[in-house]
Amino acid sequence: MEVQWLLVAHLLITLLVVVSFLCGQWPIFQGTFVERIHYFLTFGLYDYSLRLVGFVFGSRGKDAFHTVENYCCERPNPILQIIYLAIIGATYYISINSSFKYIPGHYVGNIHKYMSLLAVGVGVILFLLTSFSDPGTITIKNVSQYLAAYPYDDIIYSEKQCSTCKFPRPARAKHCSICDRCVARFDHHCGWMNNCIGEKNTRYFMAFLFWHFFLCLYGTVLLGFILAGRLKERRVIYILTEYYGLPNSFSSLFPHVTQWLLASHNTEIILMMFMLVVSLLLLGFFGYHAQLCLTNTTTNETFKWQDYLSWRRKLNEAKASSAALKASMSMMKNGESKPTESKWRAFCRRSPLQNEAVVKNNMYDKGVFSNMYEIVHPLSERSSFYRTKMS
Ligand SMILES: [Zn+2]
Ligand SMILES: [Zn+2]
Repeated sequence: MEVQWLLVAHLLITLLVVVSFLCGQWPIFQGTFVERIHYFLTFGLYDYSLRLVGFVFGSRGKDAFHTVENYCCERPNPILQIIYLAIIGATYYISINSSFKYIPGHYVGNIHKYMSLLAVGVGVILFLLTSFSDPGTITIKNVSQYLAAYPYDDIIYSEKQCSTCKFPRPARAKHCSICDRCVARFDHHCGWMNNCIGEKNTRYFMAFLFWHFFLCLYGTVLLGFILAGRLKERRVIYILTEYYGLPNSFSSLFPHVTQWLLASHNTEIILMMFMLVVSLLLLGFFGYHAQLCLTNTTTNETFKWQDYLSWRRKLNEAKASSAALKASMSMMKNGESKPTESKWRAFCRRSPLQNEAVVKNNMYDKGVFSNMYEIVHPLSERSSFYRTKMS
């Protein structure tokens, strides 16, 4: 029994670390211990490690640390790609070893041995497609077409030269400092894929996210049915109710069934919990990106819009204060006395300038269907792309 509790504690700690690392910066966790763990894992740990290396090995050690850091974070490298392949490979291998002997079972047919292999295979193919496909690299040959395809909105994008590539940077593009290239409709640089996510491969990235969500959910449900089949085959409920005389109710059977499952199938339980948590995280990540795709916005643009909207709000506030100051000064000049106004009224009364709506006017948003079509069939792959050219 103690071993089972150790396993549960181990699982909970693993979940806490994974969730804190991946989602600790989300507003929902602000001010909680999850945010503090996230900070420790992302900055604190780095800081302490650097100090420790400096303390033990001196400045040479620190230099070596910075070289490794530069290779891992500033240059393209396959470390996270290898970790992804290790995770999916190990999860599938452990699933085969622990559970395939129960297939076919009471609820699970033999076909799932092949279906699971197919599901993992499709997942790996989507990973390779996203990793090794062109995200929409802008070159001197296609830059004029990209300039015509993505006009400047003069809000978050205006005419600009890329100082590294030495050609005009089309709207929605960004120079990726890791890959050292300008990428059209740049979303973000994905370390897991060791590639940028841009105009041409957002579709593969979205398919990757959705498929891996489905894959984890499929694994969780499949293991659930295998365990339910084991309960049936080993007649656990029958033994508990008939031999041990327990009442046939959920509340009385649940602790005993859980105890039996943890004792006999702890690997499957841990796998199920792991895949369930990952599938929920992937669903959240897919939902976030799907919403961006449907509104034709990129991750890069969400930051630009945030900056723009907060700047506009501040500008309106400044204008309102200056208008109020001018009005009171002109009243003082004319010798008028200010009508008395209750504090509450003054607090609630807002200047017309402050009431001016600060809205996100995204000219690239052409409606849900058109936006979706742009993801599936990127502008640069349409015949019209090569007919248009900026003079
Ligand atoms: Zn560039
Ligand atoms: Zn990149």
